[in-house]
Amino acid sequence: MRNFVLYNDNRIPEMKFQPEKCNIPDQRMKPFIDADEIWHHINQAKPSVEEVRTVIAKSLNKQRLTLAETAILISADTPELIEEIKDGARRLKEMVYGNRIVLFAPLYIGNKCTNNCSYCGFRSTNTDAIRSTLNDQELVSEVEALEDNGQKRLILVYGEHPDYGPEYIAHTVRVVYGVRKGNGEIRRVNVNAAPLEIEGFRIVKDSGIGTYQIFQETYDPDIYKHYHLGGRKRNYEYRLTSLDRAQEAGIDDVGIGALFGLYDWRFEVMALVRHTNHLEACYNVGPHTISFPRIQEASAMNFDGKYRVSDEEFTRLVAILRLAVPYTGLILTARENAAVRNEVMRFGVSQIDGGTKLELGSYAENKNEEQDLNREQFHINDSRSLNEIIDELLSTDYLPSFCTACYRLGRTGEHFMEFSVPGFIKRFCSPNAILTLTEYLEDYAPAETKAKGYKVVEENLLELEKAHEKVNVPEIRQRIEKIKGGERDLYF
Ligand code: SAM
Ligand code: SF4
Repeated sequence: MRNFVLYNDNRIPEMKFQPEKCNIPDQRMKPFIDADEIWHHINQAKPSVEEVRTVIAKSLNKQRLTLAETAILISADTPELIEEIKDGARRLKEMVYGNRIVLFAPLYIGNKCTNNCSYCGFRSTNTDAIRSTLNDQELVSEVEALEDNGQKRLILVYGEHPDYGPEYIAHTVRVVYGVRKGNGEIRRVNVNAAPLEIEGFRIVKDSGIGTYQIFQETYDPDIYKHYHLGGRKRNYEYRLTSLDRAQEAGIDDVGIGALFGLYDWRFEVMALVRHTNHLEACYNVGPHTISFPRIQEASAMNFDGKYRVSDEEFTRLVAILRLAVPYTGLILTARENAAVRNEVMRFGVSQIDGGTKLELGSYAENKNEEQDLNREQFHINDSRSLNEIIDELLSTDYLPSFCTACYRLGRTGEHFMEFSVPGFIKRFCSPNAILTLTEYLEDYAPAETKAKGYKVVEENLLELEKAHEKVNVPEIRQRIEKIKGGERDLYF
């Protein structure tokens, strides 16, 4: 057992902002993972059916689970209990997120990299990799192509390289926000890039980013060393504390993640909950999103597959995460195929990408060929266009959303948590989803999707009319007419 003392899991602040209970300055920027503690929880959990049901009930009461409670869900492995967990996750998702699915696209800016992560096609030792960095004109062309598809939210992705310092990242974010094509504009730019110093995070914050995402890949320090063979990323603790530095720099909107397949999925789920606990306890705000990519094939990868996560385990872990962190957005990407995506979306995912391309410059070139893994980070299994995905969401009763209102109205971080109460979704999120979908239907959808989309809009308006909350449906209808008349960017 390492000898740093962790704050007790019982002190996890529950969802309401309780400054007297959280804010533990002495734990800021300190490593917070104790592998033995996590295994202790997993190994000692031998839950009865009643205990599992009690934990599910707590979660359905929209309370964050402790590590011990998360371990109970992880240890519940009979088919019946797994079904109860999935059913609980489905109900919780409906309660907290409704039927909305937020859409975004990744945009690779540069694939030079000084790190040597064994699983990644961009690793420094991969001499077959074809390296490039978008220049400003290429970046503008990529964003124009994405806007032409109807995208409003992007995540910019960078390798780790001296060329991609904070000033450069901030510059690219500003370029992206500045691109306007027709009615197109990017309203939210998230970033997935290397960890920075506090000053670097400040520079990036000033460019107006949404979420800063950094995945720990694996939270086990020994396994981490095994996979991260060179470069700055080899330093486990520097990465583990990176989002603390982001918080210190004033970025209160951060995304965490683990790369599933490197190590035992049960450990990584527990560690993601611990990371959430750490951020909540130290900064009064948990991560905005959690990502759980599964390893895919990549050029020159070295991965033994010992901990590969099956589809069944994957669905289970998403359901457990949903229950463990009721208010944290869960992101699922095109690494997964359409069937897995459709399955997992029911159990808790709130954001997916659509129309995804990983090759640098490929949105503007409108390339639809087989992937060339020497030019891309990894293989993807869902290459459907944004419209194909929207069309399918509409056919399966989801409400596709491009909403960016909270972030633009300053409803982030602790403020966002205060708003995450029953009624908020019906008064804000659903109306904004409807308005942003209407923009998409007017500007980008082919006739068939448009007809389907307006049917879904009407069904959702009728649902909102029936809701008890103070939802101003006539006002939403008026705004829909304004959008049809040419106005854009109307939100609550
Ligand atoms: N270079 C930055 C870093 O490592 O933090 C940016 C992230 S990288 C471009 C985005 C994420 O892709 C990584 O954090 C990792 O989790 C994931 N990734 C890397 N190789 C992968 C693979 N073979 N399959 C699936 N995901 C992968
Ligand atoms: Fe570089 Fe990121 Fe790939 Fe590691 S995962 S080699 S840091 S791009």
